[in-house]
Amino acid sequence: MDETPEPSGGKPEDGPIFVVQKHDARNLHYDFRLEIHGVLKSWAVPKGPSLDSSVKRLAIPTEDHPMDYARFEGTIPEGNYGAGPVIVWDTGKVENLKEGKNLQQSYDDGHITVRLHGKKLNGGFSLVRTSRDGNWLLMKIDDEHADARRNPLSTEPESVISGKTIEEMEEEMGG
Ligand code: MN
Repeated sequence: MDETPEPSGGKPEDGPIFVVQKHDARNLHYDFRLEIHGVLKSWAVPKGPSLDSSVKRLAIPTEDHPMDYARFEGTIPEGNYGAGPVIVWDTGKVENLKEGKNLQQSYDDGHITVRLHGKKLNGGFSLVRTSRDGNWLLMKIDDEHADARRNPLSTEPESVISGKTIEEMEEEMGG
């Protein structure tokens, strides 16, 4: 397969996407997904992303999802894996900040550095695999968008697609 390199500093409108889905399954968590080589590489982040650059958030790798899942919201029916409501909490374009490596190579190395262009999440973030257990850590890079006092998880809980909260999504779907 022909591999087009993803130059760092490319125009974000041409670049890959990210999505953060808030998912109230058995445990509430945020699914952080990054478009890499035509699929959504995925991590479950129990506490969600933080804008505080001193905070490291556990990011548990989960299975790849197809690109069209990036706009999914609704309720996964009872009896299915991950049963419960899902909203698209944030989405936007991604810029690879790693010089000389595309996102696939960074993923394989276990160290991804990106700039997010979301409605709620902006600026640099890194995802680093910890050698110990294969889990990753999601961290805000200390830049002009880092802000330890802001917490958009609580101040902007609603979907960027429908405007619904996860509670409204659950009620609407007869939960
Ligand atoms: Mn999930």
